Amino acid sequence: MVKAIVGANWGDEGKGKITDLLAETSDIVVRFQGGANAGHTIINDYGRFALHTLPSGVFYSHITNVIGNGVALDIRKLTDELTSLLDAGVPAPNLIISERAQLLMPYHVLQDAYEEERLGGHAFGSTKSGIAPFYSDKYAKIGIQVCDLFDEARLKEHLNHAVEIKNILFENMYHKPRIDADELFQDLLKMREIIKPYVGDAVTFLHQAVKDGKSILLEGQLGAMKDPDLGIVPMTTSSHTLAGFGCVGAPVPPTAMEDVICVSKAYSSCVGSKTEPFVSELLGEAGDELRRRGGDKGEFGATTGRPRRVGWFDTVATKYGCMVQGATQVALTCLDVLGYLDEIQVCTGYEIDGKVTKDFPVPALLERAKPVFTTLPGWKSDIRGITDYDALPANAKAYVDFIEKEIETPIRIVSTGPKRHEITLRG
Ligand code: GDP
Repeated sequence: MVKAIVGANWGDEGKGKITDLLAETSDIVVRFQGGANAGHTIINDYGRFALHTLPSGVFYSHITNVIGNGVALDIRKLTDELTSLLDAGVPAPNLIISERAQLLMPYHVLQDAYEEERLGGHAFGSTKSGIAPFYSDKYAKIGIQVCDLFDEARLKEHLNHAVEIKNILFENMYHKPRIDADELFQDLLKMREIIKPYVGDAVTFLHQAVKDGKSILLEGQLGAMKDPDLGIVPMTTSSHTLAGFGCVGAPVPPTAMEDVICVSKAYSSCVGSKTEPFVSELLGEAGDELRRRGGDKGEFGATTGRPRRVGWFDTVATKYGCMVQGATQVALTCLDVLGYLDEIQVCTGYEIDGKVTKDFPVPALLERAKPVFTTLPGWKSDIRGITDYDALPANAKAYVDFIEKEIETPIRIVSTGPKRHEITLRG
């Protein structure tokens, strides 16, 4: 049985916490897309961790963790993360790195930074982790797979070919120094030794696990708005953030995916460029206060520390996010954060050129959308850590009921704090 945990919105919805919680009852946890450009925050008995590449099941000894072929694998970052876990006393995880995964190279990171520099004021707000150049190279067929590391002649040939193209670009377009393919080749051989114990055939492993009836959790990164096809183009990421891509990036058979848990915060947050349309944004003093109170340590990026833009819950974007994810249920996180407000606004429609819609528009129209708000009463109390849904204040439950109706997807999990067991299950 395959379950996916994915984001309904712009990312940072609190997927890490929900994955950490549901991992407890899983046999396998899989990362199927993205790279080290986003982070899950996980707080458990070992401490507080920002995982960027490792799957969230690494804290459990009974779980096999898989880095699927859809992931952009930055070996340096992976080894740093492994070390930080071991240093904190976490036992060595069971990990399979797909031999079909491709390597995120130092030249991808450089290219990402050079391109953002070239774009200046029009930059995308990239984390400069090399993700866009990495996926461009995959589709341009100049990527290097993990399995290539074990065939030196093939590695050399593929590397020389890619570096030749990069050097033309770096010298002529960005006016930056050339890179040395031989040096890179030697580095790769060293890193090969570090990951060697973990490299395996994840494709056969996962298909066999499905046949054996194992419980498999796919862990998504970022959210539906960041999907390069169905998200807010071009302010997206470069890999598919939708559960459906798990069939390719993990991979699992499409027919095996039974449950898609879409995570959404009880308000909105969005990290990235200021130029990205963010219809329900809350600015000024009120925005600063929500940002300060949000998440477990304020709304600041887990990877970059950048302040996240915040806003009211957006039912138009979230209904769409749940639809394209194929959500079977929603986990609503950070409800506790809103306890200080007298009144809470919810964006329930977009006004575009004088017409109000509840359907999420194409990016060209989104830029002109103005929020239509519905105001609900707050509950003015601290609900952090409550674990019984019925014990929540009536106005908090009414808020959840209202959102559920608007997004047309059942909300089954409501999170009341950042810690693993600060959670309520709703009938
Ligand atoms: P992810 O990328 O979707 O895993 O999201 P992040 O982990 O980057 O961001 C979510 C933030 O919210 C983190 O700081 C979490 O610790 C925190 N968080 C998750 N659930 C809750 C919750 O129910 N209440 C509060 N106050 N914080 C939460």
